[in-house]
Amino acid sequence: MCSSLWDFAGREKDCLIFDQLFGQASCVVRCFPIELALSLLQVNRSRVEKMAFWDGYLSDESMGTIAPIVIYWVYAGFYQLLPSMDNYRLHTRREEDEKNPVHIAAVVRGVLLQQLLQAIAAQSLFLLTSNTSSMSGITAQPSIPIQIMQFIVAMLVMDTWQYFVHRYMHHNKFLYRHIHSQHHKLVVTYAIGALYNHPLEGLLLDTVGGAISFLVSGMSARTSVYFFCFATIKTIDDHCGLWLPGNIFHMFFKNNTAYHDVHHQFQGLKYNYSQPFFSIWDRILGTHMPYELVKRPEGGYEAKFIKPKDH
Ligand SMILES: [Zn+2]
Ligand SMILES: [Zn+2]
Repeated sequence: MCSSLWDFAGREKDCLIFDQLFGQASCVVRCFPIELALSLLQVNRSRVEKMAFWDGYLSDESMGTIAPIVIYWVYAGFYQLLPSMDNYRLHTRREEDEKNPVHIAAVVRGVLLQQLLQAIAAQSLFLLTSNTSSMSGITAQPSIPIQIMQFIVAMLVMDTWQYFVHRYMHHNKFLYRHIHSQHHKLVVTYAIGALYNHPLEGLLLDTVGGAISFLVSGMSARTSVYFFCFATIKTIDDHCGLWLPGNIFHMFFKNNTAYHDVHHQFQGLKYNYSQPFFSIWDRILGTHMPYELVKRPEGGYEAKFIKPKDH
């Protein structure tokens, strides 16, 4: 019987077949071709158990709570520590000082408070929805194509939830004044302020939206770790305020840093509600504000609105 790493996740059966065929050959030599063939042919057993680097340290449920917070500070911190990027900014530094009424220290405190509340809420959700197999430490993952499908469904569900709740928070004066206006204090956005929200908004838009996406898509807690990290990175990127060459999100998403920058401007406040992935709902429901990126004489770019004719 095989006893190497290749045995993990029920591969003894493959090894036994090879035992009969190749007798004393080494286990790695015997089983490596199986691994290679399976990955090349993308033949997945109906349910494959794979190791993740946090196995043995954290449950998927805990990782799904902690990883997006860690990713937030690493990715936003990376943007914050970049040297002067005046040639790629969507607003000048002077505009940032003049238009943003809140200091970065208060923004950091606000984000930390929101993350604490979201962590408590997310952990509670995971505890409520975990089944016995995931609690016992055995993670049964569907095949990769199914996980990709679940990922896409979750993106669409999250976009739908966020569009309608976000739009309603702009149309209901009470909700805007007391809750959503906090996020709009950052007229000139920067990465660390991506999740600068009223705690209630964080819970309603992000935590509840994340929970619904998770439940509707049917993804496992393990897949949700990657999904929530991806959604966090995308949200940070949309608020980074920089139009850097080679940014992969700018290439693949129409809803990107410039698109969301339009929404943070006074004239764009009632447009471009869609977040964080696609612009589908804005286009369907007529809240899409077309814009063009023009170079500023003093350096950097500006998202200039092209008002739709029918508005
Ligand atoms: Zn808004
Ligand atoms: Zn925003």
